[in-house]
Amino acid sequence: MLKKKITKILVGTNNTGKLKEIRDLLPKNLEIYSASDFKIKSPIENGKTFEENSLIKARHFSKKSKMICLSDDSGLEIDILDGAPGIHSARWGGKRGDFNKAMNKVFKELNKKQKDWKTKKIRGRFVCALTIFGPNLKTINSVGKIEGYISSSIKGKNGFGYDPIFIPKGKKLTFGEMKPNQKYKIDHRFKAFKKIKKFL
Ligand code: IMP
Repeated sequence: MLKKKITKILVGTNNTGKLKEIRDLLPKNLEIYSASDFKIKSPIENGKTFEENSLIKARHFSKKSKMICLSDDSGLEIDILDGAPGIHSARWGGKRGDFNKAMNKVFKELNKKQKDWKTKKIRGRFVCALTIFGPNLKTINSVGKIEGYISSSIKGKNGFGYDPIFIPKGKKLTFGEMKPNQKYKIDHRFKAFKKIKKFL
């Protein structure tokens, strides 16, 4: 078991949108390093679940840096697409991580599945699996989810990834239209963080 609180951590991601969100969630007294500070490339994510991929990343970045590492694997699941893009969320943006391309692929797949999808409520959720992995540390995991719907068009310029097409349940705006601190207080990452906050 962990005796002392973690005082220094490497955030294992090369995704700048995610890094910004995670930094804002971490306590201010924690020394934070990023994967780019150590010039560590991301590993191949060949897990079958968000949890597996999160562990693959945390273990990889920790082994390379010898530090305690926090990794996040996250993505968007859409029910009528059988959970896609899911763990492939980043890959739908192609090699350059083009989020517009990824959102348009969602629309294309929805059109293929159900022509009149824009008149229906298309259920989905963001999922975030977090792992803290480090030398002499019992591995810590948590998962957070936020339920919602897919917007019929791209709305808003805030956030990253699929934010402009995701409307959280009970809200009218997409994450892309919300102010960042409005999103941070309710999203999947925040919920996963709440469960591991006591270790940081
Ligand atoms: P990962 O780096 O393999 O975990 O990729 C996660 C991908 O899921 C990101 O590149 C985004 O496309 C998407 N994603 C994860 N979290 C969010 C979020 O909070 N907003 C929008 N898209 C997200």
